[in-house]
Amino acid sequence: MILYIMKVIRARAMGYCAGVRRAMEIALRESALRECGFPVFTEGRLIHNPKALESLKAHGVRELDSVSDLQRSALSAADYGRGITVVLRAHGVTPEREAELSAIRGVRIADATCPKVKNNQLKARYLVENGFCLFLAGEKSHAEIVGLMGYADCIVVETADEARRESEKLFHISRYVKTALMGQTTLSPAVYDAVTSTIREIFPNTLVIDTVCSATKDRQDATEKLCAFVDAVVVIGGKESANTRGLFHLAKASGKAVYLIEDADELPTEVFAYETVGVSAGASTPDEIIDEVENHLMRRGKCQ
Ligand code: SF4
Repeated sequence: MILYIMKVIRARAMGYCAGVRRAMEIALRESALRECGFPVFTEGRLIHNPKALESLKAHGVRELDSVSDLQRSALSAADYGRGITVVLRAHGVTPEREAELSAIRGVRIADATCPKVKNNQLKARYLVENGFCLFLAGEKSHAEIVGLMGYADCIVVETADEARRESEKLFHISRYVKTALMGQTTLSPAVYDAVTSTIREIFPNTLVIDTVCSATKDRQDATEKLCAFVDAVVVIGGKESANTRGLFHLAKASGKAVYLIEDADELPTEVFAYETVGVSAGASTPDEIIDEVENHLMRRGKCQ
């Protein structure tokens, strides 16, 4: 009979980044301040983690469905001499959307946009106002990219191939234009590098702003290192979270068995057969979910 207890190793950096932690704290503070049971709304999903959003809901913080929903709540709150708070998500929103919400009578905006994202929004606006043609590397439908595009007209590219097509198109229209490149904060540095060198082949003087957030880089480096010491890796996070998916693909590239889960209930049975399991988590994964997964692995990961 062989008896061993699974060894669980945590990535050196994982879980909530400063921007997400701040957004959660703002939402919970607003929830604690709310009166007469009126909800606190968030514009879009505050962060990309369903478990964290469930816990916010339990505190009376919920995603805004529509402007008419907000107007109705603001009207009933006004009957009690109260206001309604809308928290702007960590990835930011367009200035038009912010203006539309804050123009509703009785609505107060609590801006939980991550300061790094806000900084990028203002930089993008500055560059375009100063005559640059701006490339933006990232997922077109991602909230951060959608929000940033409200600040500046840009050419969004998701891959190096797309960057080549768009650069060639631009070169035919105006070869002497000043170009700049920015990217989604959660983009993989490898993708950003590939987009950068492709654009620079056509526009060698492109001004490249380093927008990949250090929190993203730290989590990617830590996950890459972790893979060398374990038999399998569990990546915890929302399946719609770009940085969580990035960690998953990075770990996959190591050739180890990798599992992407949102919580301990999703741990597959086969993971308990490994001797050493690494745990990593996206930047929007709550601490308590990481602890729960780790405890679960250690409790059940005993073989006889
Ligand atoms: S990953 Fe970086 S930019 Fe994005 S919310 Fe976190 S701290 Fe802000």
